[in-house]
Amino acid sequence: MRSPMQAIDEAHRLVVKIGSSLLLQDDALNHAWLAAMAADLAKLNKSSKKLIVVSSGAVSLGCAALGLKRNQLTLEESQAAAATGQIELARGWQAALAEQGLAAAQILLTAEDTEQRRRYLNARQTLITLLAHGAVPVINENDTVATQELRYGDNDRLAARVAAMVSADCLVLLSDIDGLYDADPTQNENANFIEKVPHINAQIEEMAGGTGSSHGSGGMVTKLQAAQIAQRAGCHMVLTSGRAMTPLSALAEGARATLFEAHDNPHSARAAWIAGGLKPSGSLHLDEGAKRALYDGKSLLPVGLTSVAGHFERGDCVALMAADGQEIGRGLSAYASTEAQRMIGLSSDAMENELGYRGRSEMVHRDDMVLHGKSEVLEKGEGNE
Ligand code: GLU
Repeated sequence: MRSPMQAIDEAHRLVVKIGSSLLLQDDALNHAWLAAMAADLAKLNKSSKKLIVVSSGAVSLGCAALGLKRNQLTLEESQAAAATGQIELARGWQAALAEQGLAAAQILLTAEDTEQRRRYLNARQTLITLLAHGAVPVINENDTVATQELRYGDNDRLAARVAAMVSADCLVLLSDIDGLYDADPTQNENANFIEKVPHINAQIEEMAGGTGSSHGSGGMVTKLQAAQIAQRAGCHMVLTSGRAMTPLSALAEGARATLFEAHDNPHSARAAWIAGGLKPSGSLHLDEGAKRALYDGKSLLPVGLTSVAGHFERGDCVALMAADGQEIGRGLSAYASTEAQRMIGLSSDAMENELGYRGRSEMVHRDDMVLHGKSEVLEKGEGNE
C-alpha cells in the first residue's frame, strides 16, 4: 500500500500548494515558517525533483497592509489587497528560496490562462522552461485582474489544474487541517480520519460539508474538487497539515495525511485538460442509446440529444449529462448552443437541411470527449438514489 510520503518520494514533478493561514502570523508574513518551508522544499530538490509552489496569501497580506477586513471585501477591494500583498509574498518567497540557492520565478494566472487551450499551452511551456532551468515557479491566481465571472477564488483547484498542466505526479495541499475526516473534527470529536481515497464519490463529498478556516477561501469542498482534477490526470494528491515548521519532513516522520490516489488509467494530457475544466459553458443531455454509444467508444450524434442548456460557442467545453441527471463526461462541442438547439434529435441528413450547409455530423467527436471513470459515475448514481 502506497503511503503519502512514497507518493512524494516517487514524484518527478511535484506541486506544493500552501494555504494563506500557514503563511501569516498576526497578519504579517511568517518569515520563520517560510524559511523552514523553503529548506524543506530544497531537501526534495536535491533528489532532482522538479518543484512548483502554489502560494496563497496575497489577499490576506494586502488586507493587513491596507487595513481591510478579509471577510468583508468587495471585488475591487480584494483586487487592491492582492496587488499590495502579492509583492510582499513574492519578495518573501524569493528571499527564502535564495537562502537555499534556488531561483524563484513568479507566475500569476487567471482562470482564462488555464481554461483557454492556447493560453493553457502557452503557460505550460513557460512552466516547463522554468523547470528545465532549475527555477522554482511560485504561482498564485492573478487576483488583481480576475473578474467575478471567471475566477478560481481558491488556490486548491488552481494548484490541481497546474499539476495537470505540467503532468505532475503528485500534488501536496498544505492546509490547516491534516486530512479528510468523515465529519468536521473541530465540531465532532468522534470524527474518523480517512487515510486513502481512491475515488471521489457521493459519500466522500458528503464528508466535505462545512470544514473551513478563517484565512483561506477553499474549505474542504474545493480540496475534493482539486483531488478529482488531479486523480483524473494521473496525479496523486496528498492533503496534510502545514502547521509544522517543516511539514514535508514531518510526513516522513509519520505525520497524518490523506492520500487521494491517482487513477490507474489516467487521461492523456489533452483529455485531462477537458475533464478538469473549471466550469463547463453548458450541457448536452443525452438519451440512453447515446449514453451506451459513448461508452462503446462512439461520438455523440445530434440524434441522441434530448436537450441543450447554457450558452456556448463552437469549441467550448460542455458537460455530457445522462437521462438520470448524472454528468458522465465532458467534451468540446462542434456546434454553438444556438445551432445545437436546432439539431436536437435530428438524423445527419435532416441536420444538413436544418442548418443549410453540411457541417460535422458529430455534436461532440470521440477525440474531443472524456468520460468520467465508470466507478465514479456508478458510485455517485448509487448515492443519489
Ligand atoms: N489567491 C488568494 C490569495 O493569494 C488565495 C486563495 C485561497 O485562499 O485559496 O490570497
